[in-house]
Order: sequence, then C-alpha cells, then structure tokens
Amino acid sequence: MTNRKRVAIVPCSCIGKTYGTVSREAAYEVTEDMRPAETQLVPLSLLVLGDEAARAAVAETPAVTIDGCKLACATKMVKDSGGTVAQDFAVLDVYRRYKPFKPQGIAELNEGGQKLAHVLAEEIAGVVDTLGASSEGDQNA
Ligand code: SF4
Repeated sequence: MTNRKRVAIVPCSCIGKTYGTVSREAAYEVTEDMRPAETQLVPLSLLVLGDEAARAAVAETPAVTIDGCKLACATKMVKDSGGTVAQDFAVLDVYRRYKPFKPQGIAELNEGGQKLAHVLAEEIAGVVDTLGASSEGDQNA
C-alpha cells in the first residue's frame, strides 16, 4: 500500500428509504470489496454527531458522497464538516441511467436494487481510481 490518503466514502443514512439502502450497499461494496486499500467508509451519523475521527477523515481526504434523495444530506454534511466533495452521486440519477434496475425493499434490496448498488459502486471505484492517479501525480511533481 502506498502512503497516499484514502478517499472517504460517505453514504447517506435514511434507514427507511430504498435509495438510502442502495447508497449504503454501494459504499460497502467499494470500501470492503472493490477498493479496500484506497477508501474508507465514513458514516454520516458520525459526522452529524461531530465525531472527531470522522471529521478528520473528511478534512484530510477528498470525499465521494452518495445521496438517496435531493436533500443531499451526505454532501451537505461533508461540506459543513470542513471537507471537500470530489464527486457527489445521487442514487436517483444513477437509476435514471440504469432503468432496468428498479430498486425495491428497505432492509433487504431486491435484485434490481442490488444491481443498481453494484453499478453505482463501479462508478464510485472509477472516481477513486481517478483521484488516486491525480494524487500520485502530485507526489511525483
Ligand atoms: S439524502 Fe435523502 S435519503 Fe439520504 S439521508 Fe438525507 S433525506 Fe435520507
């Protein structure tokens, strides 16, 4: 692993909304399976509580936020915590691009929701790769 900083992945936190569940599932897939060395999950709830470690994580690294609706809680909270949002994803926008993957369910997503979370995770991983490449360029400058 290099010494470059890990990208903060911040999903929004509504427990009762399908799009919120998609946002968290995508975040888990990126941070646990796809890019575990390059990313870290920062729960929105910890930012809301003012947790020092969570605030430091978004202050020190670029963040990728994932919001389940237009209220954009994750994006707003990262900015309010002094962080920089490198890319903000809205689940609804992603769904508009992948209409066959209609998400349903809350505690457990249907197949469409799982597929939507997966393609969203792939898009996030692509952003993480771009951020990593640019920070390596900075180190070599
Ligand atoms: S962005 Fe929407 S779905 Fe996500 S936590 Fe806020 S209100 Fe809930």
